Amino acid sequence: MYKKIALLLILVMFVFCGCVKPQKEPVPSTLDDITKRGSVIIGVKTDTYPFGFKDKNGKYAGYDVDLANMIGEQIFGKKGKVKFVPVTASDRMMKLFSEDVDMVVATMSVTPARLQILDFSDPYYIAGQAVLVKRGSKIKGIRDLNGKKAIIVFGTSSEGSLRAAVPNVSIIGYKTYSEAVKGLKQGKADAIVSDDTILIGLSLKDGSLVMLPKRYSREPYAVAFRKGEESEDLVRVVNDVINEAAHNGTLRKLQKNYGIKKY
Ligand code: GLU
Repeated sequence: MYKKIALLLILVMFVFCGCVKPQKEPVPSTLDDITKRGSVIIGVKTDTYPFGFKDKNGKYAGYDVDLANMIGEQIFGKKGKVKFVPVTASDRMMKLFSEDVDMVVATMSVTPARLQILDFSDPYYIAGQAVLVKRGSKIKGIRDLNGKKAIIVFGTSSEGSLRAAVPNVSIIGYKTYSEAVKGLKQGKADAIVSDDTILIGLSLKDGSLVMLPKRYSREPYAVAFRKGEESEDLVRVVNDVINEAAHNGTLRKLQKNYGIKKY
């Protein structure tokens, strides 16, 4: 009897001191679960014009957001069934793993490393990495960054390709693109390396910045999911949406509307 009470006391102490943490119940999100829930939760960017941003009325907008809405419409047969969650390059994977979102549509490239831990749809856009400098800079290409400092945004594919192209570069990381631009303008580094789609947006907003003409990688943008059986049906539905939109010209039309072209 005393033994049982002692054991119980020990268990209670463990729970209260946080030694035994109650497990977070996984939020099921197969296609079936999402249909039953009545909405699909999609992570999109808000700092990546024109792919994911907030318009002047504070509404989510952009190429990725339109694609997310098309996915919602395909699942539910009607509009207005997408719940948007803002993500950044640095937290988008975490938000998938922590089940805050069912999928991510956020200028995310398919890379061999990411394929080990995530599932991806077919690509819906192909970008390429480029270099952004201050107007008048002596940097004319990525190799000129040898022995210099370059900025990347945490969680992007830029760091790997930059290191591979320029082994002697010092890399400074920021969490967001606005911080990265501030860093460049304050002279903390000589360039920002990221996708052309993103850098062109930054240079159009700020005339003192110029994107150099060469591309240094191929960045296929695709929708990302948690890896595993749970995502199989979802990936299939999203692939249907992407392939149909590629075939019937919708993706091309969206690119035209948002001024997205090969620079
Ligand atoms: N496409 C690149 C990546 O997936 C960079 C895009 C971004 O900053 O979101 O890492």
